Amino acid sequence: MKYYHEQTITHTCGHKHTYSLSYNFTKRAVELHRLWGQKCPECQRQAYIKSLAVKTESSKAGLPELQGTQKQVSWAIQIRLQQFRALSRQHSSDVLIPLISKHPDAKFWIDNRNQNAQDLFQRL
Ligand SMILES: [Zn+2]
Repeated sequence: MKYYHEQTITHTCGHKHTYSLSYNFTKRAVELHRLWGQKCPECQRQAYIKSLAVKTESSKAGLPELQGTQKQVSWAIQIRLQQFRALSRQHSSDVLIPLISKHPDAKFWIDNRNQNAQDLFQRL
């Protein structure tokens, strides 16, 4: 009987990566299912580095922590930072931070992700 424990997987990002997987069929099926639903290790690493940079820039700017699920927060914090950068060209932080701080819910930023900066400013 031949056992395959090396397997190349195409991840959700489109990159391929080869793994050494369990000999046990059930364990291997569980591992495969988990891996197929993920980005490759390098893209995960890049995403993690980017998320740290966004968190650092947000807290340095004085933006408050967001509330919501982990997934909502990691998406919303990027949207909010982009909007903050765009609005900062026309408004000072003294104006923006109190307005932005009124919306600590991640959902607000996700729901308004397609607003241009000026329309969003009206909603703050
Ligand atoms: Zn990748």
